[in-house]
Amino acid sequence: MRTIVIGAGLVGLATAWRLRAAGAEVTVVDPAPASGATHAAAGMLAPVAETYYREEALGRLGLASATRYPAFVDEVAAALGRDRGEVGYRDTRTLVVGADAADRGSLGDLFDLTIGLGLSMERLTTRQARRLEPLLSPTLSCAFLVEGDHQVDPRVLAQALLQALRGAGVEFVERRAAAVTASTGAVSGVQLDDGTHLNADRVVLTAGVGARDVADTGVDLRGALRPIYGDVLRLDAPASLRGQVTGTIRALVAGKPAYLVPRADGSLVLGATSREDGNPRVSAGGVHELLRDAIRLLPALAEFALVETVARARPGTPDNAPLLGPLPVPGLVAATGTYRNGILLAPAVADAVAHLLRLDVESPLPDLSPFDPTRFTRPRERQTKESA
Ligand SMILES: Cc1cc2nc3c(=O)[nH]c(=O)nc-3n(C[C@H](O)[C@H](O)[C@H](O)COP(=O)(O)OP(=O)(O)OC[C@H]3O[C@@H](n4cnc5c(N)ncnc54)[C@H](O)[C@@H]3O)c2cc1C
Repeated sequence: MRTIVIGAGLVGLATAWRLRAAGAEVTVVDPAPASGATHAAAGMLAPVAETYYREEALGRLGLASATRYPAFVDEVAAALGRDRGEVGYRDTRTLVVGADAADRGSLGDLFDLTIGLGLSMERLTTRQARRLEPLLSPTLSCAFLVEGDHQVDPRVLAQALLQALRGAGVEFVERRAAAVTASTGAVSGVQLDDGTHLNADRVVLTAGVGARDVADTGVDLRGALRPIYGDVLRLDAPASLRGQVTGTIRALVAGKPAYLVPRADGSLVLGATSREDGNPRVSAGGVHELLRDAIRLLPALAEFALVETVARARPGTPDNAPLLGPLPVPGLVAATGTYRNGILLAPAVADAVAHLLRLDVESPLPDLSPFDPTRFTRPRERQTKESA
């Protein structure tokens, strides 16, 4: 039984890892592994701070995945003789802060929703918040603490997974998948962009927003997936301020979200815009807004060096929930559409795929039916019959 995983972002890599651990023979197809959304992501593992109205099923999947994270990173680290910190995982806390009175109102509503769902979030005074993060501005309007929302460095984890997968005998083919092929009513493999055919009994579509362009998946994913671009900046502290931001800071600044995530090397990730303008390049207006809002929150940021700007597309869906489940071609499973949470969701999605392909699953997963990948599109066969 050979399984092909199309796409080596964090979702595809975690999936390949889980399938290989369950004994499958795995080939990963990607022209540029770990170069998509995974390359830009801040890596917040924030199922509690990311609680939103009408996203309960997604919230449950996020919590299930956050619970799986320590064991998942430990497995990858152990395969490389490292510890979980060395593959990018950090159990730092998350502070949520607001800049003005309207932000206090919005975050207060989300706090009530979060507490109503039985999740753990604590209201702080702004003085308490500044004791935890002394660089925060004294003019904040509100603050909340989520001790359980941690972070991972997606670039470090993706590189660790690539190395561990190669070590475990997983083959990488650096080509674009053009189409899924079928014979006698089930998946037979993948057609590459150079015309080569790879045989497989099972195919998993983890190509992020690129999944829209893979042909013959049984549904038209263009209506279900769209690119939602995000700009992210990396800042480096001067020696006098190094290590002074100790946890993730998520904020609303005049209604706009922003966050800062401190990396183990002392740098800060500042994100992120959310654009549907079709521009894959870094937006000058986005950089301006992020720096303006972040400096309002932490005035000392003006002294940091701006060392990187990057933009990538999140794989967005109409209801913000993933496309996770079987596609109409037997043996083909979709695992994409993870939008703003794909780093968080990767371990749970990987387990879900193993479960869908009837391999192992270590602990029970939440109900996957809300993530049916055909929920926005009708199978092509049915569309053709109806229009005939
Ligand atoms: C600015 C920004 C900040 C974010 N912050 C967070 C965060 O803090 N926490 C969080 O949980 N999530 C975050 N996300 C979301 C997260 O990055 C994505 O949901 C996640 O990376 C999706 O992973 P993926 O593996 O599905 O896709 P990607 O990482 O986009 O990988 C897809 C891969 O598929 C390959 N591919 C595409 N087409 C084909 C094809 N035809 N054949 C073969 N391979 C193909 C690409 O080369 C790529 O390597 C953020 C995203 C952005 C853009």
